Amino acid sequence: MTEEKTDQTETPYEYSFEYIQKKLQGSKDSFGMLMKEIVRTGICTECGTCAAVCAVLEWDDLVGQPKLIGKCTGCGICYNQCPRTITDPYQLMGEFKTGYVANTNIPEVIGGQDGGTVTSLLCYLFDEHLIDAAVVTMRDPNKPWHPVAQIITSKDDAIKSSGSIYCHSQTVEALMDAVREDFRSIAFVGTPCNIDAVSKMFDSPTGMLKYFMRCHVLKIGLFCMDSFAPEAIYPFFEKEGIDLSKVQKMDINKGKFHIFYDPQGEPVKSYTIKQLDKFKSSSCSFCTDLGAENADISVGSVGSGANKNTVFARTGIGAEIMEDAAEKGYLKIEPFNAINLNAVLFLAKLKKVSQYTVRKRKVFIVRDAAVKEEKARIETKPEVEQVDVKPPLGTRKFLRVSKDLNEENRILNVSLTNTIGYVLEDMKIRIVTVEELFEKKPWITTITELFPFETIEIGYPLDGEAGEPNKANVLVEASTEAFGKIFSRTLKVAPKE
Ligand SMILES: Cc1cc2nc3c(=O)[nH]c(=O)nc-3n(C[C@H](O)[C@H](O)[C@H](O)COP(=O)(O)OP(=O)(O)OC[C@H]3O[C@@H](n4cnc5c(N)ncnc54)[C@H](O)[C@@H]3O)c2cc1C
Ligand code: SF4
Ligand code: SF4
Ligand code: SF4
Repeated sequence: MTEEKTDQTETPYEYSFEYIQKKLQGSKDSFGMLMKEIVRTGICTECGTCAAVCAVLEWDDLVGQPKLIGKCTGCGICYNQCPRTITDPYQLMGEFKTGYVANTNIPEVIGGQDGGTVTSLLCYLFDEHLIDAAVVTMRDPNKPWHPVAQIITSKDDAIKSSGSIYCHSQTVEALMDAVREDFRSIAFVGTPCNIDAVSKMFDSPTGMLKYFMRCHVLKIGLFCMDSFAPEAIYPFFEKEGIDLSKVQKMDINKGKFHIFYDPQGEPVKSYTIKQLDKFKSSSCSFCTDLGAENADISVGSVGSGANKNTVFARTGIGAEIMEDAAEKGYLKIEPFNAINLNAVLFLAKLKKVSQYTVRKRKVFIVRDAAVKEEKARIETKPEVEQVDVKPPLGTRKFLRVSKDLNEENRILNVSLTNTIGYVLEDMKIRIVTVEELFEKKPWITTITELFPFETIEIGYPLDGEAGEPNKANVLVEASTEAFGKIFSRTLKVAPKE
């Protein structure tokens, strides 16, 4: 049987390796990630495992790191064997008993943040008299979209508290007020950092609530990738013409921040998370917990479809509450395998590595003052030579290039990703503004090495005064010694509608 499937030139080992490569492909792990997350950050132990498992990697004794000697397929085998990468589902998401895809079955809750699971659980807990109070976060009636942590004692207030506010909320203060007010059984809803605070107060040897037998807390954690500083992001939104008092819903979905005036309608404005990065709360850049690992029940949106939630029941009581709420008709649940676990794990991995990764490499180019604009240093190979030096992979693209305009600062961020599978060495990049037949403002740089599937970002300043509409044609060219010109495209820049 094996003989039928195996190419005659392949050894059984090569066959198995190819089989595993195909199986892992698409999981987005790669040699580029290994270099970026482990080798460049200095946490590589030089064990050599990565080089030992892949035919196109060898150990470079001189520099003490793996070296690519052939074509990388981006299968991620090296990444997944490295003792320093975090790849185990439990390491990424924390321990859990089981998981569900869930959404509300209560008509008044439909239109909550995602599936309305958190609000439905609170409704169930109040109706069943399992809790006396809950700690939730609501919008401040006096300051639009500022969070206020609240103690609530009824199902009606639970319904009013649905929806996400993407800012830090002082939930523990409300919890301590509830404890002082002698509430005995409390559901606590919070982001992973909020849940960690409560867990520490109960579980650590010096925890404030360790010996406090008078109250029981059920921890309902929200998945969380980032939160934003209201004093920075809301003035920005207002400057962008957004009337915060009219905003009905904010939502982060697939890397975009959407703002709705009508929750069922189209977003009034959408931004990439990258555009809003500077408004992010600084603590979130160091946070490693996506899924509220210390909660009884964790609820998020990634990994389930629109208007649904991904839920992890982490404790016995958490699982029992989920199942009973579904049985009593508060929730619709689908079993664990309905979750798109790869999507959850990918996001969790991004968070775990934030403890040691440097941010995506940014390139700041300083224009060479000696180079006159009209005689820009075109560092590609002469035409004749380019014809001779054919890329070995025919028409396959070397680079994927995308753009993102920072309108306020008039910076065009150009991202270049190596998609060819070889290290692109001494890659010369040239960016110019093209006006009719003339080129202006040439920016030139050399990237010493760009690993397979690694991305770099170049911030290219556009011409013009602040406030003028950003409109330009920007030519991006790349070339290497080995392959000649490998990329040339004009990017059209226009103000957003
Ligand atoms: C800052 C933040 C970042 C998030 N990032 C992600 C993410 O990257 N990926 C992902 O899958 N999910 C994320 N979520 C979770 C997601 O937005 C939903 O809260 C979750 O899917 C539950 O949806 P639901 O429909 O059950 O919520 P609902 O039933 O509408 O209930 C939402 C509950 O969240 C509480 N709440 C709202 N804002 C806050 C706050 N700032 N702090 C504490 N509690 C709050 C409310 O009190 C309410 O009880 C984030 C949530 C927050 C608050
Ligand atoms: S170097 Fe490339 S081909 Fe080799 S194991 Fe790593 S990702 Fe796969
Ligand atoms: S497997 Fe990981 S720790 Fe070991 S040499 Fe490779 S990168 Fe370094
Ligand atoms: S990213 Fe981490 S620190 Fe930031 S709000 Fe979310 S859980 Fe808290």
